[in-house]
Amino acid sequence: MLKEKINIFWFRNDLRLEDNRGLHEALKSGLRVLPLFIFDTEILNQLPDRCDRRVDFIHQSLSRLQSHKCSILYMHGSPEDAFGFISSEFDVCSVFCNEDYEPYAVERDQKVALLLKNRGITFQCFKDQVIFSKDDILKPDGQPYTVYTPYSRQWLNKLNNEPCTHLKHWPSEKYTDNFLTSSDLQLLSDFDCVENSSLKLFRNLPAIAEIGFIPSGDIFKRPILINSIIAGYHNTRNDPSNETGTTRLSAHIRFGTISIRTLVSSAIEINNVWLGELIWREFFKSVIYHFPYAADGPFKRKYGFIAWRNDEKELEKWCKGETGYPIVDAGMRELNQTGFMHNRVRMITASFLAKHLLINWQVGESYFAAKLLDYDLSANNGNWQWAAGCGCDAAPYFRIFNPELQTKKFDPDYIYIRKWVPEFDNPSEYPRPIVDHTIARLRAMAVYKAGITER
Ligand code: FAD
Repeated sequence: MLKEKINIFWFRNDLRLEDNRGLHEALKSGLRVLPLFIFDTEILNQLPDRCDRRVDFIHQSLSRLQSHKCSILYMHGSPEDAFGFISSEFDVCSVFCNEDYEPYAVERDQKVALLLKNRGITFQCFKDQVIFSKDDILKPDGQPYTVYTPYSRQWLNKLNNEPCTHLKHWPSEKYTDNFLTSSDLQLLSDFDCVENSSLKLFRNLPAIAEIGFIPSGDIFKRPILINSIIAGYHNTRNDPSNETGTTRLSAHIRFGTISIRTLVSSAIEINNVWLGELIWREFFKSVIYHFPYAADGPFKRKYGFIAWRNDEKELEKWCKGETGYPIVDAGMRELNQTGFMHNRVRMITASFLAKHLLINWQVGESYFAAKLLDYDLSANNGNWQWAAGCGCDAAPYFRIFNPELQTKKFDPDYIYIRKWVPEFDNPSEYPRPIVDHTIARLRAMAVYKAGITER
């Protein structure tokens, strides 16, 4: 009997059924669609902790997808092994997915596309997680922007010229009848639960333990776009004690459980300041796409010669939130306990590590990468480079946040600090500052200056 020809939709950072561009293309392609998710061991094996909120977030998001009309085939292994198996087991015409712009993802997709091509299968990738990508926004001379303000101006011009094209809703949710059902899958392939040393397959969502992790204990809610938060965002965004002062959508944006086109459409209607944040996100994605070397070092290469102190004990205190600077400690404890840290405090803690402690910002970048639920390579890297002064459009190296003044301005009643540092009011329990601000500031300016002018 001839096998039915099918298409595949590969879910990645787009864990939703509605307004999903690549999924829409797949479901409208004329062939029935097998949805696929790969627990990519190339990524999972790098994670330092078996209890990782990101894995749990993905797992919970998949379980919500699964409860719809969509019966996903799950694999645990490398994408190349997964597609090697799929192409031998099924009669596949095309694999559809949405574009991903990080260096690892670009390389992975090139390998998968080649493997599929060699087997006569096309690989079709669509823009979905951003409004503008790759070469959409370039300077008049054709070069990528390295400064946010002109980038954002050009981004807005382009959107305003053709809003219907760029904010089009792709009604993938209407075509879910075109998914293969789980019984169809059984007819098409007789594997049960294939397991060899490097690749595992599951017809149903495996328990998190089956992929080598343990649940985080957190319950991640569906994304909710709260217009009142966006409306007041310009007034509330800098108050770390206000849990509804910002949208807390970052993890949902990161894993695509909400459509960026929906968010940008609301931002345009409600608040330009919030829209600016979404544009920062795309700016940093563009920077990493065009300058992938920045993922592994300073964008401004002369900042590669700074004589970091890299004191292990001070690093440990920073990680644990025991620096004796309450706003820094509150931020680090919030991060350690919840996987989130308010943006204002991310800026303060990052600046403190790079400038007050003179610890290489890349160490802090890695620490955030391990802990943040919303970890995103381009946003994390871009913001760390901004705070350390070495990014393309960064705070100048001699602009050094004063943690005390920042506290006076953004947490004047110590509400945020008291929440995360309960011993704050008890001087015998709370550590003394590990460095003196004035001395550390002068030291940072001298060391930075020497580092960047030596070459
Ligand atoms: P809102 O204030 O409601 O903003 C809406 C969305 O805009 C965010 O969810 C996010 O997608 C985007 N956004 C906002 N600010 C920024 C920004 N400065 N850069 C890029 N995108 C932005 N954000 C991440 O998503 N992942 C990271 O790994 C990350 N690492 C950071 C590291 C440092 C040192 C700093 C200073 C910032 C980092 N940010 C990162 C940016 C920002 O702190 C978070 O996006 C924000 O705090 C998330 O909260 P929210 O969803 O309430 O954002």
